[in-house]
Amino acid sequence: MCMKCKEEKAVLITRVNDAFCRACFMVYVTHKFRAAIGKSKLIRDGEQVLVGYSGGQSSSCLLHLIQEGLSERAHKKLRFQPALLFIDEGAVTDMPHEERRIIHEKIVQLMEGTGYFYHVRSLEQAMELDIIDKKTGESDGEPRVPELHGNESSSPVFYPELEQKLKSLLNSLKTLSAKEEMIRQLRQCLMISVARQHNYSKIMVGECSTQLAVKLLSDIAQGRGAHVSMETTFADRRHGDLITVRPIRDFSSKEVAIYNKLCNVETIFIPTLTTKTQEGSTIEHLTEAFVTGLQTDYLSTVSNIIRTGEKLSTDVSKEQNCALCQAPLDTDVPVSSALNAVEFSMQVSRKKTETTKVKEDSSCCGEGDGSCHSQTDCINRKDIDSELCYGCRLIVNDLDDINELPPYLLKEISWRSRRSKMKSDIQQYLL
Ligand SMILES: [Zn+2]
Ligand SMILES: [Zn+2]
Repeated sequence: MCMKCKEEKAVLITRVNDAFCRACFMVYVTHKFRAAIGKSKLIRDGEQVLVGYSGGQSSSCLLHLIQEGLSERAHKKLRFQPALLFIDEGAVTDMPHEERRIIHEKIVQLMEGTGYFYHVRSLEQAMELDIIDKKTGESDGEPRVPELHGNESSSPVFYPELEQKLKSLLNSLKTLSAKEEMIRQLRQCLMISVARQHNYSKIMVGECSTQLAVKLLSDIAQGRGAHVSMETTFADRRHGDLITVRPIRDFSSKEVAIYNKLCNVETIFIPTLTTKTQEGSTIEHLTEAFVTGLQTDYLSTVSNIIRTGEKLSTDVSKEQNCALCQAPLDTDVPVSSALNAVEFSMQVSRKKTETTKVKEDSSCCGEGDGSCHSQTDCINRKDIDSELCYGCRLIVNDLDDINELPPYLLKEISWRSRRSKMKSDIQQYLL
């Protein structure tokens, strides 16, 4: 029997004893979604929101909830204006162009069906990004007006050269975990750049609690402990006035799956880097197996992890942020810290293996009069490290050749290190 209305026969059980009939389940999830958006008071009426859409279970569920919430039949109509963004990551798995074309068409067809404006990007386009996310601080009160010029690329565009660059970056990373992390950062960067380019002030992502619990634990395991609260909270504010929100973070993956089934939501399965790999192939994959395994026997596993995560906070008072993930730098620690000990031992061991590769790290045009414009050549690993958080340092540490890094990142780091060098040069003249 449904525990809510106590009239209808229950068709599903969400948690230990929460048996719902279909109608009551719909009320329950819709309320959860609306409450998350309403409670935050972040999304204004008429605001243009960029919604990340991958065709997968969670983002499809989010998209459907948005459609329902914006429809005339909704009890209290939502009033923001969604636009969709799909990022094609086929290059990562070496997917043949023909296959990518088929997926692309299918996704576009689904996005067209919503009637919303949409953007399509390929992950390799992150390799040509030039703009760097500049925090514009507090909004100046001017409403942002997105520039919409009609939908983009209804047929896929391929970028063989960029694709090659992306592949060689990933090939230069030794471990699958680092590859996965790098992909995540590139994806994030591409999203931010699309949002900045078109003046969106919010990004909505469909991460559910099960995914966030996995992310929280694997982030801790991968040296991102200082940032887990940003990565899992409702509103991620690391990009200043461009806020990422997670409206279905209270949904379990089971609720998402049930919702999609009951509403006939069409989803598309797209293989990722770890789809056909073994359980322990990456830290995230292993954590996922661990969390979902526990969840089967102990139904409150995910919610316990999330609750515990909510007690953590990220120190956002730090002025400097990481050049790659944009989270506040967590590497500003005393000399006697464990971090410095680890860095030291890495430095020592790297010297042994890297003597043959010194030239790529330290070669400069040699003029020495400041005329050197081959910026990427003039920064070395130390420069890069000093602008990265601990978690991102680990990714770069795993990289064979720093020249493979995306140009926007190298540019940003080179700009930052020139600025800090200048700062220290004029230090003695300052009052
Ligand atoms: Zn009921
Ligand atoms: Zn970082």
